[in-house]
Amino acid sequence: MIWNSEWEYNNQDYLKSLYAKKVSGEDPTLAVRKIYCKGCGREFYTQIDTKKYCLYALCGNRGYQKELKWRRAFERKDRTCQTCGNLFTPKRADAKYCCNACRQKAYRGSVTDKVSGQVDHLA
Ligand SMILES: [Zn+2]
Ligand SMILES: [Zn+2]
Repeated sequence: MIWNSEWEYNNQDYLKSLYAKKVSGEDPTLAVRKIYCKGCGREFYTQIDTKKYCLYALCGNRGYQKELKWRRAFERKDRTCQTCGNLFTPKRADAKYCCNACRQKAYRGSVTDKVSGQVDHLA
């Protein structure tokens, strides 16, 4: 028997029954483990040591994207809008304002002295 990802993916019921035997002590030597796919989060039964995804072709990339997203979200800490003072979660590392309106307001505020309000088209 060749253990491979695709086979495991198509034989989850069988692996689940093996896992049940392992946990119940009926056959504790079985190598099967239960993991949660890092891509879709569902339960997956596997005998492959390095297994992280239900099917790498299906979820490998997704899991990576998700991790990246989490890491980015973590790096992005809430900051205070320089126009209205509200706390907001910046969508970009250099964001200073909570929304476009505030950004435009701040921009207008800083330039209207010089060009007396002729900046609407620059937003
Ligand atoms: Zn998955
Ligand atoms: Zn604001």
